[in-house]
Amino acid sequence: MHAALITDKETIEFVEFEESAPDSDQVVVDITLCGICGTDIHSFQSPGPAWPATCGHEWTGIISKAGSEVTRVDEGDRVIIAVPPSCGSCPACHAGQMNKCQTVLMATMGRGPFETPHGGFAERLTIHHGRVVPANPDLTDEQAAQIEPAAICFHAVRATAPRLGDVAVIQGAGPIGLSALQWVLAAGAGTTIVVEPNNTRRDLALNLGAHHSIDPSIAVDFVAEHTRGLGGDVVYECAGIPATVQSAVDLARRGGRVSLIGLAMGDAPMSPRQWLTKEINVSAALGYTHEEFEMTMGYVGDGRIDLDALHSGTVALSEIADTFVELAGGQSEHTKVLVRP
Ligand SMILES: [Zn+2]
Ligand SMILES: [Zn+2]
Repeated sequence: MHAALITDKETIEFVEFEESAPDSDQVVVDITLCGICGTDIHSFQSPGPAWPATCGHEWTGIISKAGSEVTRVDEGDRVIIAVPPSCGSCPACHAGQMNKCQTVLMATMGRGPFETPHGGFAERLTIHHGRVVPANPDLTDEQAAQIEPAAICFHAVRATAPRLGDVAVIQGAGPIGLSALQWVLAAGAGTTIVVEPNNTRRDLALNLGAHHSIDPSIAVDFVAEHTRGLGGDVVYECAGIPATVQSAVDLARRGGRVSLIGLAMGDAPMSPRQWLTKEINVSAALGYTHEEFEMTMGYVGDGRIDLDALHSGTVALSEIADTFVELAGGQSEHTKVLVRP
């Protein structure tokens, strides 16, 4: 069986893996769909190979084999990739900080005891049973494959929620920004302003309920005009590029909050004097809890959060290299592309 791995800058290759029976605590998942994440594209554009386990980390599939000691899921179950439960034995867990479990953090990065030799850009994946969550039956496969990134946004917005009536600014209208926008609306923001250079994505944001959707070149003036010169109450950074870390602070009011959701690779230029003068509260978010994962599935399953609007296409596994080139080119009209092995 072969799996697609990012083996070097702008290189994605199929690598052969031997199939063996699952260990007693593992399951074999036949992958139905695997989303291409922004970080997959960032890795593709960066020098050197990507960590194999992370090449395809947003997937859904059916358990075709379960190890002898696996009891919480069964063969035939439709499941979704998720972080494992807290381990109970790392220093953070021992300190009572189960929600900051180091094993969970390692798993988020595809490392540690739950590491796999490849990710979900493959027909099948053998993985520890703790890394899968049964899919809510109300979800389509396309929705199920998009729960993982939606849960990341849910976690971030829940941690730094707008207060009722707040002016919320969302930078970036890719899958993360468009998902964050919907959570921000659900959480009670009074006005939402999406900042995004791509026309199609700006329209998508309006269709999903954004009050305003504007080009970055006019953002500072526009936000000032709509806030009597104050700036946004809370700014969600979802573009995931170094330049937008500082611009998030530029768009926030004095005493405002900035939530970092998009993952910028590399260092970002910032103006400490402005952060101080503005007394900005910055929060950063990574991952989610299993409870938040279940909640996310509930919101998507009953239609309060629309992930179908984010899904712009499905490609075969054999087309993955061309798709990566297209997405990395920066001119693509795609938002979320799913790969069907
Ligand atoms: Zn991702
Ligand atoms: Zn732990």
